[in-house]
Amino acid sequence: QTQQSGENVMRTFGKSHKLDHVLYDVRGPVADEAARMEASGTHILKLNIGNPAPFGFRTPDEVVYDMAQQLTDTEGYSPSKGLFSARKAIMQYAQLKNIPNVSIDDIYTGNGVSELINLSMSALLDNGDEVLVPSPDYPLWTACVNLAGGKAVHYTCDEESEWYPDIDDMRSKITDHTKAIVIINPNNPTGALYPKELLEQIVQLAREHQLIIFSDEIYDRLVMDGLEHISIASLAPDLFCVTFSGLSKSHMIAGWRVGWMILSGNKRIAKDYIEGLNMLANMRMCSNVPAQSIVQTALGGHQSVKDYIVPGGRVHDQRDLVYDMLNAIPGVTAVKPKAAFYIFPKIDVKKFNIHSDEQFALDLLHDKHILISHGAAFNWPHPDHFRVVYLPRMGMLRETIGEIQDFFSYYRQA
Ligand code: PLP
Repeated sequence: QTQQSGENVMRTFGKSHKLDHVLYDVRGPVADEAARMEASGTHILKLNIGNPAPFGFRTPDEVVYDMAQQLTDTEGYSPSKGLFSARKAIMQYAQLKNIPNVSIDDIYTGNGVSELINLSMSALLDNGDEVLVPSPDYPLWTACVNLAGGKAVHYTCDEESEWYPDIDDMRSKITDHTKAIVIINPNNPTGALYPKELLEQIVQLAREHQLIIFSDEIYDRLVMDGLEHISIASLAPDLFCVTFSGLSKSHMIAGWRVGWMILSGNKRIAKDYIEGLNMLANMRMCSNVPAQSIVQTALGGHQSVKDYIVPGGRVHDQRDLVYDMLNAIPGVTAVKPKAAFYIFPKIDVKKFNIHSDEQFALDLLHDKHILISHGAAFNWPHPDHFRVVYLPRMGMLRETIGEIQDFFSYYRQA
């Protein structure tokens, strides 16, 4: 691009066209506006990012101790897939989850699951390849599919049935170009947890159409109401599956950047793809080594997260409070989350005359200094949803949702 500046023609730089279909609005314009308001001295109540540590959630002391002990031993690069101790512990974790045919070579550590989502899509997709991604989704999936030159094709998750994927819709979106299905289970932003029968239907569909299954299970240890998380890979020994998880949420160390992916099932059909994964893993040298060094202690030690998700525990009780308070708002309804720490309420857009959910989020921000994420940020096609992160403590949450209740009592009403 060029631009006239006095005598000279000045060269300017635009972003790559590879970013044309890439969106990551969880940290987008509404969050930018909140940052501007904060910079000018306004206190903002943030219900927008799933980052437990700032809300008083701490990793077990033994994990911090372990990291401190190993800091000097972890100054160098590790093997590109990760330290033996970390991968061994993750392999055992995979066994506990009944994920079939996993050897230590099938485990890759990453700088969070985020890095591995990007890597796994980059290694797979050619221009025009399609990947089925949920709507709503955790938007990194759509972004990484599109950044890799592929096309994210969204299947609907149905609010009327607990936000479960609509299998008929999924089926109707499969074409000759479809390579894979992504599921996010437990789900961000809906908090849904998928039952075995549903997972079996997805497996059957993948089997019929010879698709890879990518399953993002980063919230698998944050499941409430006595329910059990089932890894879809455990139901698909004959298919090629890639399962993602990590410690950002279960051990409240999102800032340490440690996650992993596990290849399982029929790896023979993916030999060439796996070579691509290995090349990209080599190219980034390795993931953060001090963070890898605590994986064994974290997975094998005290699971403090369990105390949070039972009645009387913070995540559980905060979920109940938010669910009750949001549903008490005339014109707002929400499905009860079963897992993670998000709720995705629906707004009666006719009642409130809403045409843009981003504008709604901005209005709430300006009026009440509360930052939520609007539904479009999760590739939801209608302007009628928003996501609340219910990590703040009860008192703060009661006050903040109280303010949201007040906002809806006057917002855009005749
Ligand atoms: N997948 C899902 C569904 C998430 O919600 C998040 C973070 O919010 C991530 C992946 C990324 O996590 P990480 O911190 O491991 O990069």
